[in-house]
Amino acid sequence: MSDTHRDALTRAALEMAGRGIPVFPLWPGTKIAAWHRPARCPGTGACADGHANPEDLATLDPDRIRWRWSDRPWNVGVFPGPAGRIVVDCDQPKTGGGPDGWEQLQELAADRGGPLPDTWTVTTPSGGRHLWFRVPPGCRLRGTVKHIASHVDTRCWGTYALAPGSVFEGGAYELFDDTSEAELPGWLIQANVEHASTALSGSGEKPVKAPDAYVAAALRAETDRVRREPLGQRNKVLCTAAYALGQLVGARVLDEHLARAELHAAVAAWGTPESRVKDHGVIETSLAAGARNPRRITGKAA
Ligand SMILES: [Zn+2]
Repeated sequence: MSDTHRDALTRAALEMAGRGIPVFPLWPGTKIAAWHRPARCPGTGACADGHANPEDLATLDPDRIRWRWSDRPWNVGVFPGPAGRIVVDCDQPKTGGGPDGWEQLQELAADRGGPLPDTWTVTTPSGGRHLWFRVPPGCRLRGTVKHIASHVDTRCWGTYALAPGSVFEGGAYELFDDTSEAELPGWLIQANVEHASTALSGSGEKPVKAPDAYVAAALRAETDRVRREPLGQRNKVLCTAAYALGQLVGARVLDEHLARAELHAAVAAWGTPESRVKDHGVIETSLAAGARNPRRITGKAA
């Protein structure tokens, strides 16, 4: 490995950090973080108060980056979650034909009537692409595997991606589109958080004979789900519920003030006034995101 290669990776790390995305070294030519696994934690140094993950240790500090990248051509691990970003990772099918991740994502966008804006994009050595988006404030999203589609993963909290310039299996990650990062479209927030079993928050659109009854049932189901949710997943559940109700607001079948009032009441039932301001912020953001992607109530059969 040449000094030039090492210098290029150092620059790549500095550039990502300069954009507010923390970095951590990965073993040269791999996707493996240069750090121990929790099972082998020595309990010293950075882990003196319990095991620290690369996500906790990733840095924006240029001096630390120059020092860390001075000895080897470390690949550059980048952590979208803490940076308020998400990476939509569209892969190629490993075997056989069929649509690749990028085609699946475009199909999904068309299905849901959502935009798929141009955004900062990196190509991967396997022929895939990483689309970088900004996550709306108040939404904390986790990375997903084969959740949005069979060849579409997401990298957010709890996962990482590789910066352009990193190398893997004889190829390089390369900047493909240096457009500034777009905000994550509402329909992709929804696709990232919804459960396959969540009927009302899901993408299946059934013909509705009595919209009023349908809307009332949706309002009750979504707010009940929020009310019942134990600590831990509340933010995600609230985000999903408010988004789903926002879609009904956008479709002009549910009154916005009623949706907001019911969501506020559901959150109040948690008995956590200390998080009220944040929770109300999530409600506003997700209601608005849903309203921008209205549900087609009388649309096609499921
Ligand atoms: Zn440790």
